[in-house]
Amino acid sequence: MAHVIDGKALAAEVVARAAAEVADMVAKGGTAPGLAVILVGNDPASEVYVGRKIAQCRKAGIRSIEHRLPADTPQEDVLGLIDALNADPQVHGILVQLPLPRHINAALVLDRIDPAKDVDGFHPVNVGRLSTGTSAGGGGLVPCTPLGVMLLLDSVIEDYRGLNVVVIGKSNIVGKPVSMLLLEREATVTVTHIETRDLPDVARKADVIVAAAGAPHLVRGYWVKPGAVVIDVGINRVTDHDGNSRIVGDCATHELDHAKAVTPVPGGVGPMTIACLLSNTVLAAKRAAVA
Ligand code: NAD
Repeated sequence: MAHVIDGKALAAEVVARAAAEVADMVAKGGTAPGLAVILVGNDPASEVYVGRKIAQCRKAGIRSIEHRLPADTPQEDVLGLIDALNADPQVHGILVQLPLPRHINAALVLDRIDPAKDVDGFHPVNVGRLSTGTSAGGGGLVPCTPLGVMLLLDSVIEDYRGLNVVVIGKSNIVGKPVSMLLLEREATVTVTHIETRDLPDVARKADVIVAAAGAPHLVRGYWVKPGAVVIDVGINRVTDHDGNSRIVGDCATHELDHAKAVTPVPGGVGPMTIACLLSNTVLAAKRAAVA
């Protein structure tokens, strides 16, 4: 049987570490980190994600400042709010919940966030730091899901040098940044996508597979070599024959007994993503305190 990496337990450790750091900052007379969350419109999935993020913030002692705006809020107003939050010393992290309504240019909005408060790590400055391997030393912030993927991998892999890693999906929020982090650890990284030829053959050569395609049960047992580690980032809602809907990942995990380790969906990458949002917020607040 493959070892099932417990994302919930690992995430609880990350949250506990963040909470301890917050308590320490407050005990030393500092302010608790503040995270501003902007939600435009009432997309039900976004409401759920924002609710979870805010609940976890509370657990760690992070102040969350919610800005819920109507769906028809003009782009200029969203940009104006970001300017105000950038200038507010009580706000250490700014998160804009995606997707934004169609009349708002998401790239423009994300580019407006002060890179030092960009706890999602999507600002071009932070993307650049990640690409040049200077996130830690250069004051950069790394996107939460890729950061969570690395912590899950770190729980089963000590040395990445020379490992063959196949990343499935090349999005800016998962595939590309996770590839950059793995390259920094000197893995040999192959980034694949919808147009990749013979993907099962490519995947079979991998010591590590990171699946972030958004395609239910794409990665089958015969794609995975014995002893490989498989991280399943996918979150896909599917409807069973009996009409019930449930969440599945990008991997047919029930076919992966021969893997060394796998992450479950739910309970794998998802909780780590939120936990890393908290650790990024604490990091941003600590940097602001010494700046
Ligand atoms: P995206 O749609 O932006 O990108 C998907 C990528 O996968 C593309 O590069 C595409 O070419 C590739 N792809 C799609 N189908 C494929 C196929 N059949 N074969 C090979 N490649 C294929 O998606 P995203 O935003 O990166 O998200 C990917 C998945 O991860 C989604 O299911 C999403 O819900 C999930 N996700 C989970 C978390 C989390 O916290 N667990 C966070 C972000 C995204």
